[in-house]
Amino acid sequence: MGRVYNFSAGPAVLPEEVLREAAAEMLDYRGTGMSVMEMSHRSGAYEEIINTAEKDLRELMSIPDNYKVLFLQGGASQQFAMIPMNLMKNRKAAYIITGQWAKKAYQEAGIYGEAVAVASSADKTFSYIPDCSDLPIPEDADYVYICENNTIYGTKFWQLPDTKGKTLVSDVSSCFLSEPVDVAKYGVIYGGVQKNIGPAGVVICIIREDLITEDTLPGTPTMLKYKIHADNGSMYNTPPAYGIYICGKVFQWLKKRGGLAAMKEYNEKKAKILYDFLDGSSLFHGTVEKKDRSLMNVPFVTGSGELDAKFVKEAKAAGFENLKGHRTVGGMRASIYNAMPLEGVEKLVAFMRKFEAENLVK
Ligand SMILES: *Cc1c(COP(=O)(O)O)cnc(C)c1O
Repeated sequence: MGRVYNFSAGPAVLPEEVLREAAAEMLDYRGTGMSVMEMSHRSGAYEEIINTAEKDLRELMSIPDNYKVLFLQGGASQQFAMIPMNLMKNRKAAYIITGQWAKKAYQEAGIYGEAVAVASSADKTFSYIPDCSDLPIPEDADYVYICENNTIYGTKFWQLPDTKGKTLVSDVSSCFLSEPVDVAKYGVIYGGVQKNIGPAGVVICIIREDLITEDTLPGTPTMLKYKIHADNGSMYNTPPAYGIYICGKVFQWLKKRGGLAAMKEYNEKKAKILYDFLDGSSLFHGTVEKKDRSLMNVPFVTGSGELDAKFVKEAKAAGFENLKGHRTVGGMRASIYNAMPLEGVEKLVAFMRKFEAENLVK
């Protein structure tokens, strides 16, 4: 069997070109006689890999010089604790609750200080982004936290909240490198890479230098201090070396494709094909307020649990994998990250159109 169209929310599809290149280098990485997995992270060959990866990421995102790029471990979920441990000087922070990941981050922050929920879209099952133009942000909040693209619900902040001068911290796990960003608007941008960049096990954290201090909460483990990782160039201990190598290849792939502006255009084109179909369909419906729709994660339903299950099953048989919605939401979800080709979305829509014709009760 060949490769399927993989619509998984994460771990997710990677560029085939990258996988082929990694396969070709598996047994002998560029004359070293070993794979990157077997190599000392202190070796010259590996240093070049991680340094090039950082350089390419800085170029792709135009990361200003006063930001550090850290390659960390522990998944995005570990940042839920690491952020308050390092940033909660006043033991207070504002959280905008737009889904399960934001809620988990908020709950975790509550272990370390006062996490204040300043806005939420829980009232309508997180199907929209609340108005964040004038939020009651506490004077002494250390930061304002958002989950920028809500992987499970399929919403995206198209406008950043007015933080009233406070540091903005953003989880971009599922929209990382999907479009250009103005890094200077953020204090911290971070994400697990398994959605849009690479294999699970790597977290990239882009953090403004003045936020990296010795002054962490008492009891903060060494491994959870940004400063330790920043001072050691992400090599305080053994980094997730192979994962970073794959991320580096994806950065190169993105550069070859024209960078993030070109990626945004491509992603908009793909998403439009799917959303236009959903808007015109008499069987399938999108579940998200139009103005807040994500370009990366597209949830939809038929309105019948039975038909949803039938669709997922038949889609799988036709080579469209992982279309089942999140276990907490039901329905379907197509994740159409950077590496999902346009024809994958076109073929999915053709399949949906056929399914609609066969199943619509007139
Ligand atoms: C997947 C995801 C997470 C959790 O990532 P882990 O690496 O599994 O901890 C957090 N936030 C967002 C937005 C995600 O999509």
